[in-house]
Amino acid sequence: MTSTRAVGAALTSLVLAGTATLAGCSAQGTTGTAGESDGVTVLASFYPLQYVAQQIGGDLVTVDNLTPPAAEPHDLELSPAQVREVGTADLVVYLSGFQNAVDEAVEARAPEHVVDAADAAELVEHAEEEGHEGETEEEHAEHADEHGATDPHFWLDPSRLAAVGQAVADELAATDPEHADEYAAGALRLGQRLDELDQEMADGLAACQGATLVTSHTAFGYLADRYALEQVGITELDPEVEPSPARLREIGDLVEERGVKTLYSETLVSPKVTETLASDLGVDTAVLDPLEGLSEEATAAGDDYVSVMQANLAALEEGLVCE
Ligand SMILES: [Zn+2]
Repeated sequence: MTSTRAVGAALTSLVLAGTATLAGCSAQGTTGTAGESDGVTVLASFYPLQYVAQQIGGDLVTVDNLTPPAAEPHDLELSPAQVREVGTADLVVYLSGFQNAVDEAVEARAPEHVVDAADAAELVEHAEEEGHEGETEEEHAEHADEHGATDPHFWLDPSRLAAVGQAVADELAATDPEHADEYAAGALRLGQRLDELDQEMADGLAACQGATLVTSHTAFGYLADRYALEQVGITELDPEVEPSPARLREIGDLVEERGVKTLYSETLVSPKVTETLASDLGVDTAVLDPLEGLSEEATAAGDDYVSVMQANLAALEEGLVCE
């Protein structure tokens, strides 16, 4: 544990150094191949993809993120300058079906080198078994249509993020063949870190198998799958959707039946609904970070994907009903 943290801190400072040098030149864009001075420009559509590109590319790349720090990425809108950047970056890393504006920009600008994380992550559906209260089959089908059938939040399973890392390394090598060995080594290094994290989480949650994880929006389906938890979302995949009174009653019944002792709210989404429900039910709340963004404060404090996942693990061990 201690050694993992130390390595994490060292890598984080590397990333920070990289970010600082990049800020000045990222807006100019480049003409396709990597220049000597500013390296390969990578445009990631939200934080976990930015993290992967930075870890793999290191000093060879400058990574921009289309989603501002601490913004909620689901309903991202792009400025005209950002749309242009999609066309001028050497490599664009995004997740199709997650952010409409990015999908449209990629289609319109047709960047030469693109990684669609959806391909490597092997997205699956995490539909609520019972659908919405009082919803007809037809309404349910429409609903699934609006939100996309698959669950986008793959990065909360470290093994799936590692698979995307490999795809990013391969495309970086295609973009900048001179440094293919470095990118392959970066993917290997990242894969090992994510593997360690995965093992740490599996060990930590081994005693909690089958526990009910009540979250605010259903971002944690892949994490629940990986570590044998059962996720129940108070709202839907989209955090902007308000839960109905019927849904809140349903959650209340389930909390009582199963002896759930903690409702989890999330960073980037107002905890109000979760807190009100928890106080009605007489249970605790705790915070999970779905890692859809990372605040500037968190970055400055040296946090990154791995350390935030470790904090999530601690919150789960504390709040779930485990043996
Ligand atoms: Zn989400």
